Amino acid sequence: MLNQLDVKVEALKPANCGFDVAWSKHFVEKYHGQPIKSVTLSFEAFHQQGEFIITKHGVEGSLIYSASSMLRDEIENNQKAVMYLDIAPDTTKEKLIEKLSKPRGSRSLSSYVEKTIGIKGVKMGLLYEVLSKDDFANVQKIASTIKQLPVSLIATRPLDEAISSAGGVSFESLDENLMLKNISGVFCAGEMLDWEAPTGGYLLSACFASGVVAGNGVIRFLK
Ligand SMILES: Cc1cc2nc3c(=O)[nH]c(=O)nc-3n(C[C@H](O)[C@H](O)[C@H](O)COP(=O)(O)OP(=O)(O)OC[C@H]3O[C@@H](n4cnc5c(N)ncnc54)[C@H](O)[C@@H]3O)c2cc1C
Repeated sequence: MLNQLDVKVEALKPANCGFDVAWSKHFVEKYHGQPIKSVTLSFEAFHQQGEFIITKHGVEGSLIYSASSMLRDEIENNQKAVMYLDIAPDTTKEKLIEKLSKPRGSRSLSSYVEKTIGIKGVKMGLLYEVLSKDDFANVQKIASTIKQLPVSLIATRPLDEAISSAGGVSFESLDENLMLKNISGVFCAGEMLDWEAPTGGYLLSACFASGVVAGNGVIRFLK
């Protein structure tokens, strides 16, 4: 509606959102709803330790939201984004190799991984998602995957599910009171505006702040 009235509006995109991952049927059935704690997520220059949840569709949660704008833009440009997880962030690859290289008797390497380095449950499930049976015979491969486990994100979850949105009414269409330059008496604030921020209070703070600016603008306009 605003576009038709010559107000510049950037397309809305999901922000602080979850992503789709092509998990195997077995993995989803067994692990959806389970938290992954604590892991380090890396994507390009982004490295952050935290936690997230495995969903029926993919991944969701605070750590994912923190990287979501970069991951979303990568998917937009390249149809997918590969994030890397360090699922044992408190130990080094060398330490893992050392532990995994000790004699393990008749135990399979997978049960040995669980026993010696405590990778189990959903984290073990993640390893099974990316390693082949042959890989599970290769200590180096297991250790490097634990430290850098690739997860391919293929789409953002829909805007309706997102915590917030990028895009909206462009600042060049607004005056300093957040009134539309083209439509006198119509003010914009909050998520209507073209900005995005991480969650954790920043969104609400900026929504309230822009609400104050627009509200004061309304008073001035009415006077
Ligand atoms: C699950 C969830 C968790 C979040 N957690 C955080 C957090 O921890 N920290 C943080 O900073 N931010 C968080 N956010 C984001 C934050 O809540 C939003 O950025 C913020 O509320 C947006 O404020 P707004 O006023 O722009 O829009 P809204 O809060 O969406 O307000 C818009 C209002 O307009 C009303 N409305 C819509 N259409 C019409 C109409 N035609 N006529 C009349 N009224 C209408 C709606 O009912 C709504 O009340 C979270 C969001 C979600 C969804």
